[in-house]
Amino acid sequence: MPFFFNLFARTPRSPNLVDAVIAISPSPWINALGWLIGLVVACGIVVINSETHNDLAPTILYITLLLMAANLFSINVVISIALMCILLLTATYLINGGYHHWESTTGFFRCLTALSAITFLALRSKYAAERLHHNELYLLGAQRLSQTGSIGFRADGKAISWSEEASRIFEYPQNELPTVEMVRARTHPDDVHLVHEVFAKAATRSELIEVKHRLLFPDGRIKYVHMIASPLFEQHGRCDYIGALMDITASKEAELALFCAHTQLAHVTRVTSLGELAASIAHEVNQPLTAITSSSEACRRWLNRPQPDLPEALQSLDRILASACRASDVISGIKALSRKSDPRRQRESINDIVSETLCLVQQELAHHQITLKVELLAQSDEVNVDRVQLQQVIINLIINACHAMDGAETRDRVMYVRTWVVGGAAVVEVADQGSGIAADVLPSLFTPFFTTKANGLGMGLSICRSIINFHDGQIWATSAVGRGTSFKFSLPVASTAARTPDEQPSV
Ligand code: ADP
Repeated sequence: MPFFFNLFARTPRSPNLVDAVIAISPSPWINALGWLIGLVVACGIVVINSETHNDLAPTILYITLLLMAANLFSINVVISIALMCILLLTATYLINGGYHHWESTTGFFRCLTALSAITFLALRSKYAAERLHHNELYLLGAQRLSQTGSIGFRADGKAISWSEEASRIFEYPQNELPTVEMVRARTHPDDVHLVHEVFAKAATRSELIEVKHRLLFPDGRIKYVHMIASPLFEQHGRCDYIGALMDITASKEAELALFCAHTQLAHVTRVTSLGELAASIAHEVNQPLTAITSSSEACRRWLNRPQPDLPEALQSLDRILASACRASDVISGIKALSRKSDPRRQRESINDIVSETLCLVQQELAHHQITLKVELLAQSDEVNVDRVQLQQVIINLIINACHAMDGAETRDRVMYVRTWVVGGAAVVEVADQGSGIAADVLPSLFTPFFTTKANGLGMGLSICRSIINFHDGQIWATSAVGRGTSFKFSLPVASTAARTPDEQPSV
């Protein structure tokens, strides 16, 4: 079952923005405390200096104080403490009358130079550390807002690391060291093979690894994640990958809601089309019933003879059985079309679907005096589709073509229905010789509620497009005013994943 159709669970939205406010510097109280401690310690150093009369010892203490401040407090506190130390060193030198002695003066300048140099280096590294910290915070903030974490892993799957946001997505404590087992434990059991595929691809040094899978939490919640990774470096036979991990739950849920709305709308329009085809459908059911009646009468005659002709009677019974099956098939087809059910894709022959649909519209074509020309070249090719939805597309294109030809000369009323396969795609074409569509109208054709008909709803083609898109195909139209219109859609042939139709959509 496609991974986004089988489960629908609500998950919490983005993290609380209050959580996203990150403290970037110590509080003013801590700074004030730092400043006070600095002042007390510096004064203590002055006292020591007055006792020892040694230049070097206090300088070492000043430097120690400065380095500690640089480690603990903000840049402003570090600058204040540095200035205070220089000031106290100078004051001590002046008060002690150091300028009377040449040695004291040179010693003072040595200490001053050392203190200034250490201050400069401490401030420089403090600036660099703060910039780094800021960048880290920006990255963290951006990851939280975009709900995208980073994840790194070794190609052999032996080690893994992740950012704070990735650990939030997986809902593990931030201080817990990640392991591949933890990722597996959170992955939905039906999607675990996708995680294995990631490491299998990494083992072959794949240039780009992309995976979308579900996470299942112990309380039953489901999250959808999308990861894209590429190799970061390769060294001594070891390759590390870096990836972006996105929480796409919200967009998946919106997609699901949209899908449900489309399914309902598609059902409504399908039932509307069936109403339009009522006469055709009645005729289609009536035909086998008439055959049953005439075969029954024949059977009766064969049996009523003085010498009952059993082989002929048996043949009549076979015809009755075949006609009854045919009527039952038509009714099941109509029931399927009118039923409201979730799409179920399976391998189907494109030609069978087209032929079955044409049976339903035969009478409609006769009613519009349209000659049908059918060319089904997509012989045994199968497509992975929901049969009912595809029939709905074909019916809609045929009904539109009938309407478009209503004004045309009777002899020109020819409709072509063709199928063929090109570049791994099965193409179906419904072409008419009707009024055609002006070039400036063509781009609006598939827009919801676009209609040129007095009683039109304008949803038919829009639904056709969403059905075809859902089946990974494309639908397009080419037309010329007065010369008719051709609608084509292409679907990937089931055995081939890639599709490269040589005809490009014009709409
Ligand atoms: P509706 O049939 O309710 O108008 P559709 O979405 O099926 O809604 O069609 C939208 C419009 O596209 C039509 O109103 C018509 O103008 C145009 N159209 C569709 N098919 C054809 C066609 N085969 N030939 C000419 N115009 C067409």
